[in-house]
Amino acid sequence: MAQAQGGSANSLLRSIASLDFPAISEETAMRYLHEMHFSYETVKWKLDSAALRARGVPSGPLWGKLQAGHDVTLDDGTTLAAADFRVSEVQRAVAVIGGDNDTPSLLSDACAEAQVLVHEATYTEAILQKVGPGPTHSSVQRVAQFATERGLPNLILTHFSARYDNPEGMAELEAEARQHYAGNLFLAQDFASYELDAAGVVRKFQAA
Ligand SMILES: [Zn+2]
Repeated sequence: MAQAQGGSANSLLRSIASLDFPAISEETAMRYLHEMHFSYETVKWKLDSAALRARGVPSGPLWGKLQAGHDVTLDDGTTLAAADFRVSEVQRAVAVIGGDNDTPSLLSDACAEAQVLVHEATYTEAILQKVGPGPTHSSVQRVAQFATERGLPNLILTHFSARYDNPEGMAELEAEARQHYAGNLFLAQDFASYELDAAGVVRKFQAA
């Protein structure tokens, strides 16, 4: 987030130092800088249909006006206030987009309400073991296991090593993901778009 707002690791560390937080390492701060959490809220208005029926208002155009927030006047001259007959329902979509991160559990709190995690899965676990911890990248297995533990319904894996840039390689990554994650899975492709719908389901976006 700080990165999205034009921050740097040092400015983040300075602002953390001025707060009452436990000290964190620069490495951790750098990691946080690469994690992004996006949320989007929409408010839907629902009518209290029982109350309207009790009040003797037949379903029809008047209901639509009330739902849209307009007060209405009945034939007998009484006015019904929209505020008395509609209730709000907040829908929240949360997407967490991580950068290079060899410890997906660091995103545990960020993912608390998330419907989708987009995370690098640079290697299979076997190759990650060979490469070692230097590049601070994750394996498919680590991310898939984290998504399962966290109950994330949608997972988009990305940022694959060039060694998998062929049909067999992609199949290998997908097989490892499937072994550890049973949710809605995507292996991201360059320039593809994905949308999270109001029901919390991710689909590959098809341009109209
Ligand atoms: Zn990377």
